[in-house]
Amino acid sequence: MKIGVLAIQGDFAEHIAMLKRLGAETVEVRLPRHLDGLDGLIIPGGESTTIGKLAVDFGLMEPLREFGQTRAIWGTCAGAIFLSKDARRNQPLLGLMDITVQRNAFGRQVDSFEADLDIPELGEGGPYHAVFIRAPIIESVAGEARPLAALPDGRIVAARQGRLLATSFHPELTQDPRFHQYFLTLAR
Ligand code: GLN
Repeated sequence: MKIGVLAIQGDFAEHIAMLKRLGAETVEVRLPRHLDGLDGLIIPGGESTTIGKLAVDFGLMEPLREFGQTRAIWGTCAGAIFLSKDARRNQPLLGLMDITVQRNAFGRQVDSFEADLDIPELGEGGPYHAVFIRAPIIESVAGEARPLAALPDGRIVAARQGRLLATSFHPELTQDPRFHQYFLTLAR
């Protein structure tokens, strides 16, 4: 299994560490040719406007859209925003997932927080401890996209559309490998 991590901005190093722990081969993706031969790609958290601007500058927009037609992509936080069709703002988006997101949905008072989520799709192992940092909410899912996890108040924080995955939170900042394992099954 060979998994790329978009390494132009954000916390890509933490994703790479978790993937290595699970025995995957990893590639730092900065240029279109780095996508060759990958089974899947992770787009990390960071700042979605910066990731989008740099992806435009590096000629990555179309190659990433093409990649997502046939292979697995997982966006965490800013990466989830970048995967979406609509972020209610004018910024470069891949538009691969049929989801509408609201950026910084928890406001300044609640910059970051943690919550235990029930995520049946992850199987055994109990509640999933999720870390949110200036996180978006997935306001709505449409078409083939399905909610995967929600906060107790019902707001959606993870969604899946075939081999595409979006999470508002940061599994790479925990010691729980279940989400990365789940992504590897989507990439297989
Ligand atoms: N608030 C950031 C954005 O809008 C995302 C934060 C994160 O990735 N932790 O892009």
